[in-house]
Order: sequence, then structure tokens, then C-alpha cells
Amino acid sequence: MREFDYIIIGGGCAGLSLAYELDLHKKLENKTLAIIEPRDEYKKDKTWSFWKVINHNFDDCVKKSWKNFSINSPKETKHLQCDNFPYQSIDSGLFYKKIINKLKENQNISFLKNIKDINQSNCFIFNSVPALDTNKNNLWQHFCGVEIKTKENIFDDTIINLMDFDCEQRNSIHFFYTLPFEKNRALIETTWLSKMTDNSLNDYDDQIKNYIEQNLKIKNYEIVYKEEGAIPLFYPLKNNEKNKINIGTAGGMTRLSTGYTFLNIQEHSKYIRMNIENIENTKNFEIQKKYKFLDEIFLKVMEKHPEKMPDIFSTMFNASTKSILKFLSNKSNIFEDFSIILKMPKLVFIKALFDK
Ligand SMILES: Cc1cc2nc3c(=O)[nH]c(=O)nc-3n(C[C@H](O)[C@H](O)[C@H](O)COP(=O)(O)OP(=O)(O)OC[C@H]3O[C@@H](n4cnc5c(N)ncnc54)[C@H](O)[C@@H]3O)c2cc1C
Repeated sequence: MREFDYIIIGGGCAGLSLAYELDLHKKLENKTLAIIEPRDEYKKDKTWSFWKVINHNFDDCVKKSWKNFSINSPKETKHLQCDNFPYQSIDSGLFYKKIINKLKENQNISFLKNIKDINQSNCFIFNSVPALDTNKNNLWQHFCGVEIKTKENIFDDTIINLMDFDCEQRNSIHFFYTLPFEKNRALIETTWLSKMTDNSLNDYDDQIKNYIEQNLKIKNYEIVYKEEGAIPLFYPLKNNEKNKINIGTAGGMTRLSTGYTFLNIQEHSKYIRMNIENIENTKNFEIQKKYKFLDEIFLKVMEKHPEKMPDIFSTMFNASTKSILKFLSNKSNIFEDFSIILKMPKLVFIKALFDK
């Protein structure tokens, strides 16, 4: 049986971010680490985007940054600026390459495919493989995106379309998300917030084709990349083992109202690195309770009133953009929280608060 000081189960976003953070800060000079990852090769499989409210280790993996975004609801189109917190997109291909190259230089780090041959009793484990509650009432953010290349220069690459609700809702919540990387290249995603029990929502290819050809009126284009996924909008099952911490999606790092996870993973990695010498006795890192409480109410409103959500999302942005971006990125103060709460339709939210 092989022995290691630390084991990271799952070399995806959270596992690799943590290993990189530990290596960068020289926490693995006298300690050994095994990263357990079943995949045979790393290639680009995700585009991680977020408002840059904190510094992170991966500025050199940013594919593009924007300072403008729009939201399109049936009632209005809003054009907003985010100069203070630019919206960044990380190319997972660059992220994996940068980290793997760096980690391979450290002889104390081993990449393994299977945990079976490792003694797990005398080490500390960071686990990123989620144990998910299979309750059919849970909400998911599920989506499929394609990066297209067009013949003509048709995109305004200075502005992203964060949410375009001008599409079929089918009794769920549905919007398109467009990230124009260049004037002739953009990632276009169809995104649903639903319980994933209705398979008829999964005709992603047709939805995207219709949107590109009918809404965006693009005829000549080529698909150069595709990604698909589902982010749980519920917390994973808790782990009670003393020598184990869950990280990433498994560690509850997703903000349930938005699905944003990437920056929370970076903050969690930093927290673990700062406490690694006494990790067994360190308090768990969590998304602040006030956000968990408010997100729970928001999700209840989503579930009860999907038809109201395009307006609710749009109205939310009547608050100061800086405050709302801080709120969505877990960085708002109490005054900013109230300024956003006061913009919400009060009766619907109060009912959701008391609804069990
Ligand atoms: C397509 C997609 C796009 C996303 N876009 C965004 C975004 O724009 N912004 C944002 O903030 N968040 C986004 N997310 C959410 C979140 O940031 C990502 O899911 C992120 O990858 C989560 O990191 P993770 O390490 O928890 O999971 P993963 O990155 O999925 O890593 C888990 C790893 O565990 C490995 N594994 C699986 N089974 C085992 C096993 N039995 N043993 C060992 N290893 C195993 C997998 O191969 C994988 O490498 C997106 C999610 C998806 C799926």
C-alpha cells in the first residue's frame, strides 16, 4: 500500500486549484500528495466565467474580459457596465495545461488513476467527487453551449449578453448566454433552470440552431467547440469523516442562485493553504450563511413562479450594478444586500419566506 500525506480525489477545477495553490506556496516541499483522477487526457471541456471580484492565480488563462453586459427580458433590454469587476472567461484547456506542467515538476506529487492501492487511514483527504442527493425535487442549472466562428464580423466583442429570455420558456426558466470572444467568434449557450425531469428540454442542438439562425440571424457559421453540463442548485451531502474535507461542487462551493462556483473554489483553496498545517482542527470554509438563506428563498420563488423570473432577474439590476455584482459574488455589505432585497417583488418573496 502506498502512503501519502495528502490525497486529492478528483483532478478537476477544485482538485487542481488546490494542488496548485499548495505547490505555489511551497506547502509540498516536505509533504507528499497523490491526485486521483481517472481521465486519460486533459483537454478543454469548460469555460469558467465570473466577475473578477478577487485576485486569482489564473489571469494568464483568461480568454477574454469584458466591461459591459446586457440582460434582455420581455419588457426591456438593459445595458450595464462592470468596469469595477470585469467579467472574465477562463479557458479550461489553458488552466489544465498550466497546472499540470507546474505540478509535474514537483517530485512529491503523484498522479494516480485509482485510490485502491493507497492507504487512506494515515493521511488527509480533499475530495471533489460529489455525493449528490437524488431527490427529484432538486433544481439544476443545465446547459449546452457551442463556440461558433462566423464568416462575417458580426459580434460586438465589447459586450456579453448575460441573459436573453427571448426564447421558449416551456414552464421552466430558460435563457441564452452569449460570450463574444472575437468579432467573428462567440460561445452561445442555452441554459435551463429546472428539475431535469422533463427530457423534452434536452433538445439543446435544435434550441441553439434556432437561436443562432432566427434570433441572431446568422446563416454562415461553423461550430468549433461544444460544452454541456449541469450544475446542482442544491447543497451536496455533508461529509463527517475527520480526515476528509470536501472541495469544489462536492464541498458546497456553488452559489445556488447563480451556479457560479469558480471563484469560490479559488477562495476555498487559499483558505486550505493558509490552514494546511492544522487542517484537522480548522473550521470548515462555507459560503456565508446570509447568502445561503437568501438563495433558498430565491430558489423557492423560481420554483413557484418560473414565469416571473425574467422580470425578477431584470428588476434586480435596477439596483446599483456594483452592489449587485458584489452580492452575486458573495462580497456585498448589509446596505448593498438591502438595496437589492428592496428591488424584489415583496409579496412573492415574503410568501416564499414563510413557505415550507
Ligand atoms: C460545462 C460547465 C461549465 C461551467 N461554467 C461555469 C462558469 O462559467 N462559472 C462558474 O463559476 N462555474 C461554472 N461551472 C461550475 C463549476 O465551476 C465547475 O463544475 C467546476 O468544474 C467544479 O469543479 P470541481 O472540481 O468541483 O468539479 P470538476 O471540475 O468536475 O472535477 C471533478 C473531477 O473528479 C474526477 N472524478 C470523477 N469521478 C471520480 C472518481 N470516482 N475518483 C476520482 N476522480 C473522479 C473528474 O474526472 C473530474 O476531473 C461550470 C460547470 C460545467 C459542468
